Amino acid sequence: MTSWQPEFHYPALLCRYSEIGIKGENRMFFEERLLASLQRQLASLGPLRFTHDRGRIFVFPETKDSFTPADLHTLRREIPRIAGVASLSPGFALPPALPEIEKCLQKIFPHIVQAGRDKFPGRPLTYALQARRSDKSFPLHCVDIERYFAELLLPGYPDLTLDLRHAEIVIEVEVRKDIAFVSCERINGPGGLPCGSSGRVLALLSGGFDSPVACFQMMRRGCLVDFLTFHSAPFTPPATITKVCRLVRRLNEFQPRGRLVSINLLPLQLAIRDACQSRYRTVLYRRSMLRLGAVLAEYFQDQAIVTGDNLGQVASQTLANLSVIAQASNILVLRPLLAYDKINIMNMAQDIGTYDISRENVPDSCTVFATNNPATRAKLDNIKREEQKIPMRELLLKCLDSANLINAKNCQEYPFPELKNYGQNMQNLLMCEIW
Ligand code: ATP
Ligand code: MG
Repeated sequence: MTSWQPEFHYPALLCRYSEIGIKGENRMFFEERLLASLQRQLASLGPLRFTHDRGRIFVFPETKDSFTPADLHTLRREIPRIAGVASLSPGFALPPALPEIEKCLQKIFPHIVQAGRDKFPGRPLTYALQARRSDKSFPLHCVDIERYFAELLLPGYPDLTLDLRHAEIVIEVEVRKDIAFVSCERINGPGGLPCGSSGRVLALLSGGFDSPVACFQMMRRGCLVDFLTFHSAPFTPPATITKVCRLVRRLNEFQPRGRLVSINLLPLQLAIRDACQSRYRTVLYRRSMLRLGAVLAEYFQDQAIVTGDNLGQVASQTLANLSVIAQASNILVLRPLLAYDKINIMNMAQDIGTYDISRENVPDSCTVFATNNPATRAKLDNIKREEQKIPMRELLLKCLDSANLINAKNCQEYPFPELKNYGQNMQNLLMCEIW
Protein backbone atom coordinates (compact mmCIF):
# COMPACT_ATOMS: atom_id res chain seq x y z
CA MET A 1 0.00 0.00 0.00
CA THR A 2 1.03 3.60 -0.40
CA SER A 3 3.60 4.91 2.00
CA TRP A 4 2.59 8.52 1.44
CA GLN A 5 -0.41 8.45 3.71
CA PRO A 6 -0.61 11.27 6.21
CA GLU A 7 0.48 9.82 9.51
CA PHE A 8 -2.62 10.40 11.58
CA HIS A 9 -2.73 9.57 15.24
CA TYR A 10 -4.98 6.59 14.75
CA PRO A 11 -7.05 5.45 17.72
CA ALA A 12 -7.54 1.85 16.48
CA LEU A 13 -6.36 -0.95 14.21
CA LEU A 14 -8.46 -3.35 12.18
CA CYS A 15 -6.88 -6.74 11.57
CA ARG A 16 -8.36 -8.93 8.81
CA TYR A 17 -7.85 -12.65 8.65
CA SER A 18 -9.23 -14.86 6.00
CA GLU A 19 -8.72 -18.56 6.39
CA ILE A 20 -9.37 -18.86 10.09
CA GLY A 21 -12.84 -17.63 9.43
CA ILE A 22 -13.78 -20.92 7.79
CA LYS A 23 -12.57 -23.20 10.55
CA GLY A 24 -15.98 -23.69 12.13
CA GLU A 25 -15.68 -24.99 15.66
CA ASN A 26 -11.92 -24.44 15.77
CA ARG A 27 -12.34 -20.75 15.25
CA MET A 28 -11.75 -19.85 18.87
CA PHE A 29 -8.51 -21.81 18.90
CA PHE A 30 -7.20 -20.09 15.77
CA GLU A 31 -8.29 -16.67 16.97
CA GLU A 32 -6.56 -17.15 20.29
CA ARG A 33 -3.35 -18.10 18.50
CA LEU A 34 -3.61 -15.05 16.31
CA LEU A 35 -4.21 -12.79 19.30
CA ALA A 36 -1.16 -14.29 21.01
CA SER A 37 0.96 -13.57 17.90
CA LEU A 38 -0.31 -10.01 17.66
CA GLN A 39 0.39 -9.44 21.32
CA ARG A 40 3.90 -10.85 21.04
CA GLN A 41 4.95 -9.16 17.80
CA LEU A 42 3.39 -5.82 18.66
CA ALA A 43 4.63 -5.69 22.27
CA SER A 44 6.57 -2.49 21.58
CA LEU A 45 3.26 -0.65 20.93
CA GLY A 46 2.50 -0.89 24.65
CA PRO A 47 -0.48 -2.62 26.31
CA LEU A 48 -3.23 -3.42 23.81
CA ARG A 49 -6.91 -4.24 24.09
CA PHE A 50 -8.49 -6.58 21.57
CA THR A 51 -12.07 -7.15 20.57
CA HIS A 52 -13.25 -9.46 17.85
CA ASP A 53 -16.16 -9.70 15.61
CA ARG A 54 -16.49 -12.38 12.90
CA GLY A 55 -13.39 -12.29 10.72
CA ARG A 56 -12.02 -9.10 12.25
CA ILE A 57 -9.93 -8.17 15.27
CA PHE A 58 -10.00 -4.59 16.50
CA VAL A 59 -6.99 -3.40 18.47
CA PHE A 60 -6.94 -0.39 20.77
CA PRO A 61 -4.12 1.11 22.81
CA GLU A 62 -4.79 0.59 26.48
CA THR A 63 -2.76 3.39 28.02
CA LYS A 64 -2.80 6.10 25.37
CA ASP A 65 -5.38 7.72 23.11
CA SER A 66 -3.88 6.74 19.79
CA PHE A 67 -1.06 5.01 17.97
CA THR A 68 1.91 7.23 17.20
CA PRO A 69 3.72 7.58 13.85
CA ALA A 70 6.53 5.45 15.39
CA ASP A 71 3.91 2.75 16.10
CA LEU A 72 2.90 2.90 12.44
CA HIS A 73 6.47 2.18 11.37
CA THR A 74 6.53 -0.80 13.70
CA LEU A 75 3.26 -2.04 12.21
CA ARG A 76 4.55 -1.71 8.66
CA ARG A 77 7.58 -3.79 9.64
CA GLU A 78 5.85 -6.41 11.79
CA ILE A 79 2.55 -7.10 10.06
CA PRO A 80 4.14 -8.85 7.03
CA ARG A 81 5.75 -11.22 9.57
CA ILE A 82 2.64 -12.30 11.45
CA ALA A 83 1.31 -15.55 10.04
CA GLY A 84 -2.46 -15.62 9.82
CA VAL A 85 -2.89 -11.89 9.19
CA ALA A 86 -4.39 -11.08 5.78
CA SER A 87 -4.03 -7.33 6.27
CA LEU A 88 -4.22 -4.62 8.88
CA SER A 89 -5.43 -1.05 8.67
CA PRO A 90 -4.80 1.72 11.15
CA GLY A 91 -7.94 3.83 11.32
CA PHE A 92 -10.84 5.37 13.18
CA ALA A 93 -13.34 3.26 15.10
CA LEU A 94 -16.71 5.01 15.34
CA PRO A 95 -20.27 4.35 16.35
CA PRO A 96 -21.96 2.76 13.30
CA ALA A 97 -23.99 5.78 12.21
CA LEU A 98 -23.80 7.76 8.98
CA PRO A 99 -23.32 11.20 10.63
CA GLU A 100 -20.36 9.85 12.64
CA ILE A 101 -18.70 8.44 9.52
CA GLU A 102 -19.36 11.70 7.70
CA LYS A 103 -17.82 13.76 10.49
CA CYS A 104 -14.70 11.61 10.47
CA LEU A 105 -14.32 11.74 6.69
CA GLN A 106 -14.81 15.51 6.58
CA LYS A 107 -11.95 15.78 9.05
CA ILE A 108 -9.41 13.43 7.49
CA PHE A 109 -10.15 13.71 3.78
CA PRO A 110 -8.43 17.10 3.17
CA HIS A 111 -5.22 15.75 4.75
CA ILE A 112 -5.30 12.60 2.66
CA VAL A 113 -5.78 14.57 -0.56
CA GLN A 114 -3.01 16.97 0.39
CA ALA A 115 -0.62 14.08 1.01
CA GLY A 116 -1.51 12.74 -2.45
CA ARG A 117 -0.93 16.15 -4.04
CA ASP A 118 2.45 16.41 -2.32
CA LYS A 119 3.41 13.02 -3.65
CA PHE A 120 2.20 13.60 -7.23
CA PRO A 121 2.37 17.38 -7.69
CA GLY A 122 0.67 19.06 -10.63
CA ARG A 123 -1.49 16.21 -11.84
CA PRO A 124 -4.97 14.89 -11.15
CA LEU A 125 -5.39 12.10 -8.60
CA THR A 126 -7.66 9.07 -8.67
CA TYR A 127 -9.95 8.27 -5.79
CA ALA A 128 -12.13 5.41 -4.61
CA LEU A 129 -14.18 4.87 -1.50
CA GLN A 130 -14.89 1.23 -0.80
CA ALA A 131 -17.69 0.41 1.59
CA ARG A 132 -18.47 -2.89 3.29
CA ARG A 133 -21.52 -3.52 5.34
CA SER A 134 -21.81 -6.61 7.51
CA ASP A 135 -24.68 -5.15 9.50
CA LYS A 136 -27.61 -5.52 7.15
CA SER A 137 -29.78 -3.26 9.29
CA PHE A 138 -27.63 -0.26 8.39
CA PRO A 139 -29.90 2.00 6.30
CA LEU A 140 -27.62 2.31 3.25
CA HIS A 141 -26.29 -0.43 0.97
CA CYS A 142 -22.57 -0.45 0.12
CA VAL A 143 -23.04 1.23 -3.25
CA ASP A 144 -25.26 3.85 -1.63
CA ILE A 145 -22.58 4.60 0.98
CA GLU A 146 -19.99 4.90 -1.78
CA ARG A 147 -22.21 7.19 -3.85
CA TYR A 148 -23.21 9.27 -0.84
CA PHE A 149 -19.61 10.08 0.05
CA ALA A 150 -18.49 10.57 -3.55
CA GLU A 151 -21.22 13.19 -3.94
CA LEU A 152 -20.34 14.74 -0.63
CA LEU A 153 -16.56 14.85 -0.99
CA LEU A 154 -15.64 15.11 -4.65
CA PRO A 155 -17.19 18.49 -5.57
CA GLY A 156 -14.66 20.24 -3.35
CA TYR A 157 -11.73 18.62 -5.18
CA PRO A 158 -11.76 19.19 -8.95
CA ASP A 159 -8.38 17.41 -9.31
CA LEU A 160 -9.87 14.08 -8.11
CA THR A 161 -11.42 11.56 -10.47
CA LEU A 162 -13.15 8.35 -9.56
CA ASP A 163 -11.30 5.11 -10.34
CA LEU A 164 -12.76 2.14 -8.54
CA ARG A 165 -10.04 -0.29 -9.62
CA HIS A 166 -6.67 1.46 -9.43
CA ALA A 167 -7.23 4.49 -7.27
CA GLU A 168 -4.31 6.28 -5.66
CA ILE A 169 -6.45 7.43 -2.76
CA VAL A 170 -8.46 4.58 -1.32
CA ILE A 171 -10.73 5.14 1.64
CA GLU A 172 -12.34 2.11 3.22
CA VAL A 173 -15.46 2.29 5.31
CA GLU A 174 -16.54 -0.86 7.07
CA VAL A 175 -19.84 -0.89 8.89
CA ARG A 176 -20.44 -3.63 11.43
CA LYS A 177 -23.06 -4.10 14.08
CA ASP A 178 -21.29 -2.26 16.89
CA ILE A 179 -18.60 -0.37 15.12
CA ALA A 180 -17.84 1.54 11.93
CA PHE A 181 -14.23 1.72 10.81
CA VAL A 182 -12.69 4.27 8.47
CA SER A 183 -9.20 3.76 7.09
CA CYS A 184 -6.96 4.81 4.22
CA GLU A 185 -4.08 2.35 4.45
CA ARG A 186 -3.81 -1.42 4.23
CA ILE A 187 -0.66 -3.17 5.43
CA ASN A 188 -0.56 -6.66 3.95
CA GLY A 189 0.23 -9.62 6.18
CA PRO A 190 1.59 -12.93 4.94
CA GLY A 191 -1.78 -14.69 5.14
CA GLY A 192 -1.68 -18.37 6.10
CA LEU A 193 -2.50 -19.64 9.57
CA PRO A 194 -1.48 -18.27 12.97
CA CYS A 195 1.78 -19.33 14.50
CA GLY A 196 1.55 -22.64 16.34
CA SER A 197 -1.94 -23.53 15.17
CA SER A 198 -0.69 -26.44 13.02
CA GLY A 199 1.79 -28.06 15.43
CA ARG A 200 5.59 -28.41 15.59
CA VAL A 201 8.08 -29.50 12.94
CA LEU A 202 11.85 -29.93 12.75
CA ALA A 203 13.62 -28.24 9.84
CA LEU A 204 16.92 -29.47 8.43
CA LEU A 205 18.56 -26.08 8.09
CA SER A 206 21.70 -25.51 6.04
CA GLY A 207 23.31 -22.20 5.18
CA GLY A 208 21.82 -22.30 1.66
CA PHE A 209 18.96 -20.27 0.22
CA ASP A 210 16.33 -22.98 0.20
CA SER A 211 15.96 -24.36 3.69
CA PRO A 212 15.35 -20.99 5.44
CA VAL A 213 12.60 -20.24 2.92
CA ALA A 214 11.13 -23.71 3.51
CA CYS A 215 11.07 -22.90 7.25
CA PHE A 216 9.18 -19.68 6.61
CA GLN A 217 6.64 -21.47 4.41
CA MET A 218 5.89 -23.87 7.24
CA MET A 219 5.63 -21.04 9.77
CA ARG A 220 3.21 -19.28 7.45
CA ARG A 221 1.02 -22.36 7.58
CA GLY A 222 0.93 -22.26 11.36
CA CYS A 223 3.89 -24.47 12.33
CA LEU A 224 6.37 -23.82 15.09
CA VAL A 225 9.77 -24.74 13.68
CA ASP A 226 12.78 -26.22 15.50
CA PHE A 227 16.09 -26.38 13.64
CA LEU A 228 18.74 -29.04 13.11
CA THR A 229 21.94 -28.25 11.27
CA PHE A 230 24.81 -30.56 10.33
CA HIS A 231 28.44 -29.56 10.18
CA SER A 232 31.64 -31.49 9.54
CA ALA A 233 34.17 -29.89 11.89
CA PRO A 234 37.10 -29.60 11.44
CA PHE A 235 36.44 -29.87 7.70
CA THR A 236 33.90 -27.08 8.02
CA PRO A 237 34.86 -23.90 9.94
CA PRO A 238 33.05 -22.43 12.98
CA ALA A 239 31.61 -19.88 10.54
CA THR A 240 29.31 -22.63 9.22
CA ILE A 241 27.54 -22.62 12.59
CA THR A 242 27.53 -18.87 13.12
CA LYS A 243 25.92 -18.41 9.71
CA VAL A 244 23.13 -20.81 10.66
CA CYS A 245 22.71 -18.98 14.00
CA ARG A 246 22.12 -15.76 12.09
CA LEU A 247 19.55 -17.48 9.89
CA VAL A 248 17.80 -18.85 12.98
CA ARG A 249 17.77 -15.43 14.59
CA ARG A 250 16.07 -14.03 11.51
CA LEU A 251 13.58 -16.91 11.32
CA ASN A 252 12.80 -16.63 15.02
CA GLU A 253 11.55 -13.11 14.37
CA PHE A 254 8.47 -14.83 12.97
CA GLN A 255 7.82 -17.17 15.89
CA PRO A 256 8.54 -17.65 19.59
CA ARG A 257 12.05 -19.00 19.83
CA GLY A 258 12.56 -22.26 17.87
CA ARG A 259 15.32 -24.50 19.27
CA LEU A 260 18.56 -25.04 17.34
CA VAL A 261 20.66 -28.20 17.51
CA SER A 262 23.88 -28.99 15.67
CA ILE A 263 25.28 -32.44 14.91
CA ASN A 264 28.68 -33.27 13.50
CA LEU A 265 28.13 -35.59 10.54
CA LEU A 266 31.82 -36.20 9.96
CA PRO A 267 32.09 -39.70 11.51
CA LEU A 268 29.49 -40.93 9.04
CA GLN A 269 30.93 -38.99 6.14
CA LEU A 270 34.41 -40.43 6.72
CA ALA A 271 33.05 -43.98 6.85
CA ILE A 272 30.96 -43.41 3.74
CA ARG A 273 33.95 -41.90 1.94
CA ASP A 274 36.18 -44.81 2.83
CA ALA A 275 33.81 -47.72 2.33
CA CYS A 276 31.03 -46.83 -0.11
CA GLN A 277 30.84 -46.03 -3.80
CA SER A 278 31.51 -42.35 -4.25
CA ARG A 279 28.52 -41.78 -6.56
CA TYR A 280 26.14 -42.60 -3.69
CA ARG A 281 27.71 -40.23 -1.18
CA THR A 282 25.10 -37.50 -1.16
CA VAL A 283 22.20 -39.94 -0.96
CA LEU A 284 23.93 -41.74 1.90
CA TYR A 285 24.59 -38.45 3.70
CA ARG A 286 20.97 -37.43 3.29
CA ARG A 287 19.63 -40.75 4.59
CA SER A 288 21.87 -40.37 7.62
CA MET A 289 20.66 -36.81 8.17
CA LEU A 290 17.09 -37.99 8.05
CA ARG A 291 17.66 -40.73 10.62
CA LEU A 292 19.39 -38.34 12.99
CA GLY A 293 16.66 -35.80 12.37
CA ALA A 294 14.02 -38.40 13.22
CA VAL A 295 15.64 -38.97 16.62
CA LEU A 296 15.66 -35.27 17.43
CA ALA A 297 12.13 -34.79 16.09
CA GLU A 298 10.84 -37.52 18.36
CA TYR A 299 12.75 -36.08 21.32
CA PHE A 300 11.35 -32.60 20.68
CA GLN A 301 7.92 -34.01 19.80
CA ASP A 302 8.08 -32.45 16.37
CA GLN A 303 5.63 -34.17 14.06
CA ALA A 304 7.51 -33.96 10.76
CA ILE A 305 10.83 -33.08 9.19
CA VAL A 306 11.03 -30.16 6.78
CA THR A 307 13.68 -29.79 4.08
CA GLY A 308 14.42 -27.23 1.40
CA ASP A 309 14.46 -29.92 -1.29
CA ASN A 310 13.48 -28.74 -4.71
CA LEU A 311 12.70 -31.16 -7.52
CA GLY A 312 15.58 -31.53 -9.96
CA GLN A 313 17.72 -28.78 -8.40
CA VAL A 314 20.66 -31.05 -7.62
CA ALA A 315 21.39 -34.76 -8.10
CA SER A 316 20.03 -35.74 -4.68
CA GLN A 317 16.70 -34.19 -5.58
CA THR A 318 15.47 -36.41 -8.40
CA LEU A 319 12.26 -38.30 -7.66
CA ALA A 320 14.22 -41.55 -7.52
CA ASN A 321 16.73 -40.21 -5.00
CA LEU A 322 14.15 -38.38 -2.89
CA SER A 323 12.24 -41.63 -2.65
CA VAL A 324 15.31 -43.62 -1.56
CA ILE A 325 16.19 -40.91 0.97
CA ALA A 326 12.67 -40.78 2.42
CA GLN A 327 12.74 -44.55 3.01
CA ALA A 328 15.59 -44.19 5.52
CA SER A 329 13.03 -43.33 8.18
CA ASN A 330 9.33 -43.59 8.76
CA ILE A 331 8.95 -39.98 9.82
CA LEU A 332 6.81 -37.67 7.69
CA VAL A 333 9.07 -35.53 5.48
CA LEU A 334 7.69 -32.23 4.16
CA ARG A 335 9.28 -30.38 1.24
CA PRO A 336 7.38 -27.11 0.88
CA LEU A 337 9.65 -25.82 -1.93
CA LEU A 338 9.52 -28.93 -4.08
CA ALA A 339 7.75 -27.32 -7.02
CA TYR A 340 9.08 -23.76 -6.88
CA ASP A 341 11.53 -22.25 -9.35
CA LYS A 342 14.82 -21.03 -7.93
CA ILE A 343 14.00 -17.44 -8.87
CA ASN A 344 10.83 -17.55 -6.76
CA ILE A 345 12.77 -19.01 -3.84
CA MET A 346 15.35 -16.24 -4.12
CA ASN A 347 12.61 -13.61 -4.16
CA MET A 348 11.03 -15.12 -1.06
CA ALA A 349 14.45 -15.17 0.63
CA GLN A 350 14.71 -11.43 -0.11
CA ASP A 351 11.26 -10.81 1.33
CA ILE A 352 11.92 -12.62 4.60
CA GLY A 353 15.44 -11.20 4.95
CA THR A 354 17.47 -14.42 4.73
CA TYR A 355 18.93 -13.74 1.27
CA ASP A 356 21.89 -11.63 2.39
CA ILE A 357 22.85 -14.17 5.04
CA SER A 358 22.51 -17.19 2.75
CA ARG A 359 24.57 -15.64 -0.02
CA GLU A 360 27.69 -15.46 2.14
CA ASN A 361 30.14 -18.01 0.93
CA VAL A 362 30.75 -20.39 3.85
CA PRO A 363 31.56 -24.11 3.44
CA ASP A 364 28.65 -26.50 4.02
CA SER A 365 28.73 -29.94 5.50
CA CYS A 366 27.17 -31.44 2.39
CA THR A 367 29.99 -30.49 0.10
CA VAL A 368 32.61 -32.26 2.22
CA PHE A 369 34.04 -35.06 0.04
CA ALA A 370 31.44 -34.28 -2.64
CA THR A 371 32.03 -36.03 -5.95
CA ASN A 372 31.38 -34.81 -9.45
CA ASN A 373 29.63 -37.99 -10.59
CA PRO A 374 26.65 -38.30 -8.20
CA ALA A 375 24.04 -40.98 -8.94
CA THR A 376 20.79 -39.43 -10.09
CA ARG A 377 18.75 -42.63 -9.95
CA ALA A 378 19.85 -44.57 -6.90
CA LYS A 379 18.09 -47.88 -6.24
CA LEU A 380 17.13 -48.78 -2.70
CA ASP A 381 18.73 -52.23 -2.93
CA ASN A 382 22.06 -50.78 -3.97
CA ILE A 383 21.93 -48.16 -1.25
CA LYS A 384 21.13 -50.75 1.42
CA ARG A 385 24.10 -52.80 0.19
CA GLU A 386 26.35 -49.75 0.55
CA GLU A 387 25.08 -49.06 4.05
CA GLN A 388 25.84 -52.60 5.11
CA LYS A 389 29.49 -51.85 4.47
CA ILE A 390 29.61 -49.47 7.44
CA PRO A 391 28.57 -49.85 11.11
CA MET A 392 25.56 -47.56 10.66
CA ARG A 393 24.11 -47.82 14.16
CA GLU A 394 27.41 -47.06 15.91
CA LEU A 395 28.11 -44.21 13.55
CA LEU A 396 24.68 -42.67 14.10
CA LEU A 397 25.21 -42.87 17.85
CA LYS A 398 28.64 -41.32 17.48
CA CYS A 399 27.08 -38.43 15.59
CA LEU A 400 24.39 -38.07 18.27
CA ASP A 401 27.22 -37.87 20.78
CA SER A 402 28.35 -34.63 19.16
CA ALA A 403 24.92 -32.98 19.40
CA ASN A 404 24.91 -29.47 20.82
CA LEU A 405 22.01 -27.27 21.76
CA ILE A 406 22.82 -23.79 20.51
CA ASN A 407 21.61 -20.46 21.77
CA ALA A 408 21.20 -18.73 18.41
CA LYS A 409 21.39 -15.30 20.02
CA ASN A 410 25.06 -15.61 20.98
CA CYS A 411 26.04 -18.88 19.22
CA GLN A 412 26.85 -20.42 22.61
CA GLU A 413 26.85 -24.24 22.39
CA TYR A 414 25.75 -26.62 25.12
CA PRO A 415 26.38 -30.39 25.06
CA PHE A 416 23.19 -32.39 24.62
CA PRO A 417 23.89 -35.92 25.95
CA GLU A 418 20.19 -36.60 26.44
CA LEU A 419 19.83 -36.96 22.69
CA LYS A 420 22.20 -39.90 22.43
CA ASN A 421 20.56 -41.61 25.40
CA TYR A 422 17.23 -41.08 23.78
CA GLY A 423 18.40 -42.32 20.37
CA GLN A 424 19.91 -45.40 21.90
CA ASN A 425 16.49 -46.44 23.10
CA MET A 426 14.67 -45.71 19.87
CA GLN A 427 14.51 -49.30 18.77
CA ASN A 428 12.63 -48.88 15.55
CA LEU A 429 14.66 -45.94 14.35
CA LEU A 430 18.17 -46.92 15.22
CA MET A 431 17.93 -50.69 14.82
CA CYS A 432 18.72 -51.96 11.37
CA GLU A 433 15.28 -53.27 10.56
CA ILE A 434 14.39 -50.26 8.44
CA TRP A 435 17.46 -50.37 6.25
P1 ATP B 1 20.90 -24.37 -1.72
O1 ATP B 1 20.12 -23.14 -1.65
O2 ATP B 1 22.32 -24.15 -1.95
O3 ATP B 1 20.29 -25.43 -2.55
P2 ATP B 1 20.19 -26.05 0.34
O4 ATP B 1 20.26 -25.82 1.79
O5 ATP B 1 18.86 -26.24 -0.23
O6 ATP B 1 20.92 -24.88 -0.25
P3 ATP B 1 20.80 -28.62 -0.82
O7 ATP B 1 22.10 -29.24 -1.13
O8 ATP B 1 19.89 -28.32 -1.93
O9 ATP B 1 21.12 -27.30 -0.04
O10 ATP B 1 20.12 -29.55 0.29
C1 ATP B 1 18.76 -29.96 0.29
C2 ATP B 1 18.19 -29.92 1.69
O11 ATP B 1 18.89 -30.81 2.58
C3 ATP B 1 18.36 -28.58 2.33
O12 ATP B 1 17.35 -27.69 1.91
C4 ATP B 1 18.28 -28.89 3.80
O13 ATP B 1 16.93 -29.08 4.22
C5 ATP B 1 19.01 -30.23 3.87
N1 ATP B 1 20.43 -29.97 4.18
C6 ATP B 1 21.46 -29.91 3.32
N2 ATP B 1 22.61 -29.65 3.97
C7 ATP B 1 22.29 -29.53 5.28
C8 ATP B 1 23.03 -29.26 6.47
N3 ATP B 1 24.34 -29.04 6.46
N4 ATP B 1 22.36 -29.21 7.65
C9 ATP B 1 21.03 -29.42 7.70
N5 ATP B 1 20.29 -29.68 6.60
C10 ATP B 1 20.90 -29.75 5.42
MG1 MG C 1 18.67 -26.71 -2.44
